[in-house]
Amino acid sequence: MNYIGLIEKYRKYLPVNEKTPIVSLCEGNTPLIQAKNLAKEIGFKGQIYFKFEGLNPTGSFKDRGMTMAVSKAVESGSKAIICASTGNTSASASAYAASAGIKCVVLIPEGKIALGKLSQALMHGAEVLEIDGNFDKALNIVKELSTKYLITLVNSVNPFRIEGQKTASYEICESLDKAPEYQFMPVGNAGNITAYWKGYKELNNENPKKYGLPKMMGFQAAGAAPIVEGCPVLQPETVATAIRIGNPTSWKTAEFARDESKGVIDKVTDEEILFAYRLVAKREGVFCEPASAAPIAGLIKYVKKGYFKDVQNLQVVCILTGHGLKDPGNAIVNTQKPKKVKSDINEVVKAIGF
Ligand SMILES: *Cc1c(COP(=O)(O)O)cnc(C)c1O
Repeated sequence: MNYIGLIEKYRKYLPVNEKTPIVSLCEGNTPLIQAKNLAKEIGFKGQIYFKFEGLNPTGSFKDRGMTMAVSKAVESGSKAIICASTGNTSASASAYAASAGIKCVVLIPEGKIALGKLSQALMHGAEVLEIDGNFDKALNIVKELSTKYLITLVNSVNPFRIEGQKTASYEICESLDKAPEYQFMPVGNAGNITAYWKGYKELNNENPKKYGLPKMMGFQAAGAAPIVEGCPVLQPETVATAIRIGNPTSWKTAEFARDESKGVIDKVTDEEILFAYRLVAKREGVFCEPASAAPIAGLIKYVKKGYFKDVQNLQVVCILTGHGLKDPGNAIVNTQKPKKVKSDINEVVKAIGF
C-alpha cells in the first residue's frame, strides 16, 4: 500500500475515529540507518543505528506529533493553533496549519532560532512573534493564552503530540523485529522521551516475548541540564538550540522513563556535541542538527567509560531528531572554509594535492 502517513498506518494505536479529519504531510516512515563507520571509529562492537527523524516533511520529529495535534484541533472545531518554540515546533506547526487551512501563531526566543527553522515558519505564513525572553518564558505565555482564548496549544503539553510521537518506537521495533537494548536521544522539553517510552511499553505489552524494552538514555546539553542538576536552569545556554530549555514540561515523565527502563539522563558539553556533529557528517554521511548530535556525544562518552557489557550482541539506536540543514550557520562556523583558488586547471590540481 502507498504510504499515507502515520495516523493511517497506526490508526488502531491512536485516539482518532472516522470523524477525525486527518491532516498529514506523509510524516513518519523514516529510515533506520546502520552506523558501521561510527561503531568502528569509537571501538564499539555492537550495532549502532540512527533513526533519522530529520527526514520528516519539515525536517524534524515534531511532524509526528503535529499530524495528531492539528488533526485533533480541527476535529474539535479549532480555527487556530499556537506554540512556543526553539524552532522546530514552529516550523512543523506552521506547515500543518497551512495544510489544514487554519491560523498559526508562534512565539520564539529572540535571536536564538536557527535560520532554516525561522524561514519555514515565515514561508508557511505563521504569525511569528519574537519575544525578548527564552523558550521557558514563551511557553508560560502561550499556556496561559490558550486557556483564555479559543486557540489550541500544540506544544508537547498537548497529549496528542505524545500520541503521534510514540509511533517512532513502533517503527524501530518493526525494523529490528524487536526493541533495541539501548536508545540514546536528546532531552529538551522532554516530550519525546516520554513518547518513545510510551510506544515501547505499548508494543511490549502486546508481545513481551517478541519486543522487550530498551534502556532509555537521555542527554541534555551541559548548559541546559535541569533534569541532571535537579533544578530548573534560569539562563539555559547551548549551541544545541533545540534543547536550550531550562524547565522542561515533561520533567516527571522523563524521570519516570529513565527509572522504569533503568536508563540514565546525563549531560554532554557543547564541545562534545560539536565533535559528534562533525563526526557523523564526515564518517556516516548523515547531517543532523547540533541537538541531534547530543545522544551521539553521549554514546561516545558511555563507550569510553566502559558502560556497556556483553557488547557484541547489543543494538543501540540513536534518535537524530532534526536535519542539519535546519542550522547551516552552526555548520559553517564549525568547519573549514572553502579554499580560494584561481580558475586555472593547474591551480586546481595543486590545491587538490595530486
Ligand atoms: C524538539 C527537539 C528536541 C527536544 O525534544 P523534546 O521532546 O523537547 O525533549 C531535540 N532535538 C530536536 C531537533 C528538536 O526539534
